Amino acid sequence: MEKPLLLVHRRKLIVGSTVLAVSALLALFPDTVSRLIGMSSWSVELVGVIIFVVLLYWLAHGLKCPGCGVNLFWYGLGHAKSGNWLDWLLKQSACPKCGYRATDESVRHVDQRT
Ligand SMILES: [Zn+2]
Repeated sequence: MEKPLLLVHRRKLIVGSTVLAVSALLALFPDTVSRLIGMSSWSVELVGVIIFVVLLYWLAHGLKCPGCGVNLFWYGLGHAKSGNWLDWLLKQSACPKCGYRATDESVRHVDQRT
């Protein structure tokens, strides 16, 4: 059976997009969050923005094709239909650019490296 290309990144993607959504909420609604957790709204907003930027950077650099190095995160954002890029990313079994496929061997290889 064919493995999804980003099998080893699946947890990273799910955790990343969840935290991304939370940090976006912090940045967009600092007043609401600051009332809930008792922090000043500017520090909530700052924390939200910092997490958002760091995470976006992390996702963008951690999701490269092992074959050709194309950034699958940006590729997914640009090419997935109706903005459903997370679903698109998780369903790719081969690199859309070079056709690289994740085999058992390459998945193990990536596992050892990380
Ligand atoms: Zn590739």
